[in-house]
Amino acid sequence: MKKFVHGFSEGNMGMKALLGGKGANLAEMTRIGLPVPPGFTVTTEACNEYYQHDSQLWQNVKDEIFQHLVKLEEATGKQFGNASNPLLVSVRSGAVFSMPGMMDTILNLGLNDESVIGLAKATNNERFAYDSYRRFIQMFGDVVLDVKKYKFDTILEKRKIEKNLELDVDLTPEDLKYLVEEFKKIIAREAGIQFPQDVKKQLLMAVEAVFKSWNNPRAKVYRKIHDIPEHLGTAVNVQSMVFGNMGETSGTGVAFTRNPSNGEKKLFGEFLLNAQGEDVVAGIRTPQPIEALRERMPEAYQRFINVTHLLENHYKDMQDIEFTIERGELYILQTRNGKRTTLAAINIAVEMVSEGLISQKEAIMRVEPQQLDQLLHPTFDKEELQRAEVITTGLPASSGAASGKIYFTPEDAVKASNSRERVILVRHETSPEDIEGMVASVGILTARGGMTSHAAVVARGMGKCCVAGAGELKIDEAAKTVRVREMLLKEGDYISLNGNTGEVYAGEIKTQDPQLSGNFEVFMNWADQYRKLRVRTNADTPRDTKQAKEFGAEGIGLCRTEHMFFEETRIPVVRRMILARNLGQRKKALEQLLPMQRKDFIDIFEVMGALPVTIRLLDPPLHEFLPHEEEDIIALAETMEITYHELKDIVNDLHEFNPMLGHRGCRLAVTYPEIYQMQVQAIMEAAVHMKEVKGVTVKPEIMVPLVGAFKELKYIKDIIVQTIEEVISEAGIQIEYMIGTMIEVPRAAITADEIATEAAFFSFGTNDLTQMTYGFSRDDAGSFIKEYLDKVLLEKDPFQRIDRNGVGKLMKLAVELGRKTKPDIKLGICGEHGGEPSSIEFCHLLNLDYVSCSPFRVPIARLAAAQAALRHPQ
Ligand code: ADP
Ligand code: MG
Ligand code: MG
Repeated sequence: MKKFVHGFSEGNMGMKALLGGKGANLAEMTRIGLPVPPGFTVTTEACNEYYQHDSQLWQNVKDEIFQHLVKLEEATGKQFGNASNPLLVSVRSGAVFSMPGMMDTILNLGLNDESVIGLAKATNNERFAYDSYRRFIQMFGDVVLDVKKYKFDTILEKRKIEKNLELDVDLTPEDLKYLVEEFKKIIAREAGIQFPQDVKKQLLMAVEAVFKSWNNPRAKVYRKIHDIPEHLGTAVNVQSMVFGNMGETSGTGVAFTRNPSNGEKKLFGEFLLNAQGEDVVAGIRTPQPIEALRERMPEAYQRFINVTHLLENHYKDMQDIEFTIERGELYILQTRNGKRTTLAAINIAVEMVSEGLISQKEAIMRVEPQQLDQLLHPTFDKEELQRAEVITTGLPASSGAASGKIYFTPEDAVKASNSRERVILVRHETSPEDIEGMVASVGILTARGGMTSHAAVVARGMGKCCVAGAGELKIDEAAKTVRVREMLLKEGDYISLNGNTGEVYAGEIKTQDPQLSGNFEVFMNWADQYRKLRVRTNADTPRDTKQAKEFGAEGIGLCRTEHMFFEETRIPVVRRMILARNLGQRKKALEQLLPMQRKDFIDIFEVMGALPVTIRLLDPPLHEFLPHEEEDIIALAETMEITYHELKDIVNDLHEFNPMLGHRGCRLAVTYPEIYQMQVQAIMEAAVHMKEVKGVTVKPEIMVPLVGAFKELKYIKDIIVQTIEEVISEAGIQIEYMIGTMIEVPRAAITADEIATEAAFFSFGTNDLTQMTYGFSRDDAGSFIKEYLDKVLLEKDPFQRIDRNGVGKLMKLAVELGRKTKPDIKLGICGEHGGEPSSIEFCHLLNLDYVSCSPFRVPIARLAAAQAALRHPQ
């Protein structure tokens, strides 16, 4: 027969799935001989079985519980419900993964009108006994019977006022007896049942309440979001009580074996004298630092120190330990791996390797890749942050913290930044024309747009803090104001942004710059030894390229050429090219652009040296380069020697209902091959320059965007190759190159075998691929994806984490078809997913050659790739 209850002495730390995290660790500590108050665990299987039994405890499990209760009585020499020496227990929930929403611990269970007399006798402390009893009724009422806490507090406060008392501890035994009676009345009135005097009934009701809490709505939502399966269930721990509130030689506390904020190898903790569990967290009294225990109770302190060493060596990780001292006697009530900051996580992992406690591989698994972000960006001053007021929340689009004065146009932002202001650029949404304003700002806030909106992508690329899609903002660009509910902010007012949470604060908050410790370097080098994926970066400027290289990028996976076109000196030439009335005019404009582009590529090649660089030919629709506001069109018409009406006609002609699916990518080159010809010429001449002048061999990877059909690629490739040959024969030296394509249109993935005949490499453009596979517009999805997440129709924004079942299937198909045609085809990813750990794991599973991500995500990608390789050895 299946066993649903295990004594603490029957389990171990390997049994988390059955006993829950807390139960398995209590068993493990019992097993290795630590002073753990005895008890037993009702298993997670019992929880599942409970739901199979129409949410009723069935006879067998009740019998088992009572059998273990008898054992507990034997072990403690006390009896449950006894009028002279009663056994009291705590009832503690404990799932496999700790999660909010589960039931709070109940202490002192087993007290009733009789056993309270026994407790008073046994401890020779009537006050203590009745205080424990009234606390228990209150807790039982709140946690098991759902009676509002404040109803009890009100009565207690009333009594204190009547008797003119200041503190709870001033209450006499008579006051407490009075409260016990009143509390029982509250329960009868509010819950409609008498407070149970039968202690076995108390216990079963508490166990049931824990099982029920597994399915409360908060816990359910939490599980969905964190991918915790529904079938796990929670365990219940029933443990004999020890008392930290038995006078001045008793107390309770919590300690970390190392400092959780910086990792320093020094005990870090707090304790409260003469107190019980909930008092420490309740914050009613201020706890003392753990060192103070050394003077108060040197022996118990020394024993505790020994336990901390033992536990850390045993678990080989920093522990978070809960303990209680009853009349000088130490008891350990919980241990678990402690939560820590990234800085602490890295320092602890590296130091534990040098202490011989863990291996390098284990160390690599100890740090969440996403957490590294914390180290690379500014953070808020903690104290100032506590005083700050959140005025609204948007999407956490790009990490970091920023504080500055608000400006509403890129021009104003640039001006303010030139006069040394720290600027926060506030926009409905950003577009390529805003780049200079974004460069001039320390943070960007938008009212619209999602996680892959222009603002989000560009800010991440620059490593700048960005909160996007803060829908409550009512921006009036003309008046230079923004309204957030009742609050009106004007140009020059201070706000602060938290790019990690999406929170927006009123006023200024001090920020701190990131510092990278020596251990960071050591740690990242270990990660590099184990990963199979290469890590490249998405970078369009020498500055970003340099940044990425410092973070360890091994090449460029996506160099977008259009960003180069928006610079102030170039945009007029670009516009002349677009407005050209014939091929001759267009070629003339392109001739002017050629040396500029060549210089761009030389600058980037110089930073990257011999590392590979993938350059994407022009991608966006041409209308993005033209003005749309009436006054700007008038101004441009004047400088371009064209009439307003002619220009307006062209702007209208280029207007598209759905530009994302319009005349862009390689479709532009089908119409205007001369644009790509110019770009390819610039790339190849830059490569020639590198070889002749710098003696550096670069092998450009030329990437054609938005290909959907093999014939499309073939047509463009022929043009590219012809241009390349002209440059090479002109220069008289050989330059190697590669021509490949993005896989971002679903049709390209489906026909990848055909496309591979013309492509030397594939780079998955998963932003567009997700957009076109899901049919979610990248620019508009922000407004409803949140709804989908709240209703758990999506577990994760598919623009953030690759949707393995849908988009991922297309990728897998493309990989297989591509390799069938060309076994050595080079495969990478350059969408935003290239910097997201779960997506990187997926790329590892597909056996891609590299991932490419924005510069500040390069360290994250390096670590995520290493973890994927360790988790899935090939
Ligand atoms: P949480 O999961 O919220 O930490 P716990 O089950 O660890 O809840 O209980 C909270 C606190 O209650 C413990 O830290 C401890 O101080 C106290 N407590 C729990 N069980 C006992 C017990 N058997 N004896 C004394 N105190 C206990
Ligand atoms: Mg605890
Ligand atoms: Mg694309």
